Order: sequence, then C-alpha cells, then structure tokens
Amino acid sequence: MNRDLRVVVVGAGLSGLIAARDLVNHGIHVTVLDKGRGIGGRLATRRIGSDPAAVLDHGAQFFTVRSPEFEREVAEWTRAGVAREWCRGFGDDDGHPRYVGVDGMTSIAKHLARGLDVRTNTLVFAIRRGTSSPWDVVLDDGTVVPAHAVIVTCPLPQTYSLLVSAELELPSELTSTEYDRTLALLAVLDRPAAVGAHGGWQNPNATFSWIGDNQAKAISPVPAVTFHASPQWSLDHWDDDHADAARLLADEAAPFIEGCNIVASEFKRWRFATPRSIWPEPCHVITTESAHGNGTIALAGDAFAGPKVEGAALSGATAAARVRAELAAN
Ligand SMILES: Cc1cc2nc3c(=O)[nH]c(=O)nc-3n(C[C@H](O)[C@H](O)[C@H](O)COP(=O)(O)OP(=O)(O)OC[C@H]3O[C@@H](n4cnc5c(N)ncnc54)[C@H](O)[C@@H]3O)c2cc1C
Repeated sequence: MNRDLRVVVVGAGLSGLIAARDLVNHGIHVTVLDKGRGIGGRLATRRIGSDPAAVLDHGAQFFTVRSPEFEREVAEWTRAGVAREWCRGFGDDDGHPRYVGVDGMTSIAKHLARGLDVRTNTLVFAIRRGTSSPWDVVLDDGTVVPAHAVIVTCPLPQTYSLLVSAELELPSELTSTEYDRTLALLAVLDRPAAVGAHGGWQNPNATFSWIGDNQAKAISPVPAVTFHASPQWSLDHWDDDHADAARLLADEAAPFIEGCNIVASEFKRWRFATPRSIWPEPCHVITTESAHGNGTIALAGDAFAGPKVEGAALSGATAAARVRAELAAN
C-alpha cells in the first residue's frame, strides 16, 4: 500500500474510530475529525460534581454481541480492561451478556483512539472535489484537508449536508433516513435508588424507555441515574423550554427513585439518537474519477449495520476494508 495515501474520517464515534484504527493498522495515514469536545459520539459518559464525581452514561447504556466479528472485537476490549459484562438481563436472565465500558462507555472510545491522529473541536463544513487530491475536506474555519478517501460516519442528515457540494449521486432512501430523538435526565441522588434488577429498567411503551442506575452498573461511586424519555415523549417535548422539560422529567422520575432526592442534574438532548430505518448494506461506497486519481467516499455508522453499538462497529470495520480495497485498486 502506498504510504502517502491519506484518508480522512469524519466522526470520532465508534464507527469512525474502528475504521481509523483498521486503516492505520494497514499503514495508511488517517486523520479523524470530530466537532465534539471529546471523542465517542453517542458513546458518551458525563461527570457531575466532584469529590467524588458522579459518573453517568448518557448515550448508549450497554451493548450486546450477536456476530462473531463483534465478539472478537469485544474480547479484545475485555482483554484490554476497557469493557466488562454487566449482567444477562434486567428481569429474567436471558443468557445474553450485556457489556459496558469499565469507567463508562467512553472507556471504549478512548481505548480505540490511542495512537490515532484524532482532532476534536473540529467541525467539518463540506467535502468537495479537491484541488491537489481527489477530495478536499473543508473545516468551518476554512482550513482544507486533502484526502484520497473520506469515511463519513455522522448521522445521515449531517452526512448529507456535508456532501452537497461533492457532486455525488446518493440514493434518495438514504438521504431521507429519519432519526428518533431522545431527551435525557441525568440525576445525582442523595442515596441509592432501587431501579430494578441489576439497576436497569426498560419499557418501550412508557414515558421512560430506559432507566439506568450508574452506581449499580459500577461506573459511578455515588448514586446517579440516567433517565431516557421514549421517542414519542421526546418528540412531543422537543421544543419545550429546557428547564420546563427537565422539570417534567424529574416529576415523571419521582416514583422510580422513591425516598431519594435529586441533588444535582443535567438535561440532555439527542437529536439523532436512533435511525428509524437501516440501509441494507453495512456501508455505502462511491468511487469517482478526478484529475488527481480516483477518489472514494464511504458512508458508515449505525444507520447501516444496525442502530446499536454492534452495528456501528461492524459498519466502521466494513467501510475501512472497502476503502482499503479501493485504494489498492486505484
Ligand atoms: C440515548 C441513546 C441511547 C442508546 N442506547 C444504546 C444501548 O443501550 N445499546 C446500544 O447498543 N446502542 C445504544 N445507542 C446507540 C449507539 O450509541 C449508537 O448506535 C452508536 O454509538 C453510533 O455510533 P456511530 O459512530 O455510528 O455514530 P456517533 O457516535 O453519532 O458518531 C458520529 C460522530 O460524528 C461527529 N460529527 C457529526 N457531524 C460532524 C461534523 N460536521 N464534523 C465533525 N464531526 C461531526 C459527531 O460529533 C459524532 O462524534 C444509544 C444511542 C443513544 C443516543
């Protein structure tokens, strides 16, 4: 492989980090760009307070493993000490391990990012035909990063807006993918709550689709509970004043934490929480000719291989393999 080839990965969530690590392991120069302050995307862990801080996962809460490829990946995370089994169900033991990051879900992202060139606080504004390489990745401050291939892992509406000036034909079903939203309340309590077996409670038909006790999960040294409102509740209250929505969520949460007081809280909004439809392929790859050689764009993320941690990981791995094959062929 020509070592001067440069790939830009947009997004330091799970799919982007898995893709970047694969390419770097194959000797390709990779730069990962993320608009966030930290890495992980929807693998997000929050600290509230100090001495000691409460630790709360506020995006993905745990993950399951269905495929042999992901099983191998998770075995590596477990060996590295960044993931562990939490339990095998939140009522009846169904035999399927639920895994978590040891210090919250971002432990896994931090592990994957080790040794990679990851630039946070870096908003990609557009991807367009390049002046010295097949693609120019344009940042919001006007900086241009040239690339032979780009892997874009943002939620699809954001991906689409980056590609408007790339002059690519994208399938309309892909560009019109819709996402459910999630409103979340992160609550630090004055005493341990009794949230359900192993500290997890799920009900797709209730106000809260998920309640997770981060102390019972053993990531928080102090009582701290994550409440995720259902997609419908989140949609109905999306435009509410944030303080009003947070108050409503706290009222709804009260019966689940009876006997406890909320001593600190944060309100979070995930606009692109869960894709409502999944593309039938694990990534979408387009290679086009340019004056500077063939250029490849691969779209990846959880809208391709399943709306979960496992889907994001598999999509990122497949996108990297496809980009390697395209670079080798051109
Ligand atoms: C509330 C919630 C609960 C969930 N619970 C679970 C669960 O319990 N189990 C499970 O398996 N899955 C769960 N998921 C889903 C899981 O978190 C996702 O499937 C997975 O993390 C998606 O990874 P990704 O890399 O595809 O996308 P993301 O993690 O969204 O990564 C995309 C990255 O792109 C960056 N980005 C976007 N636009 C730009 C730009 N213009 N320039 C630069 N960077 C940009 C973003 O900052 C982000 O870091 C949950 C998700 C949410 C939101």
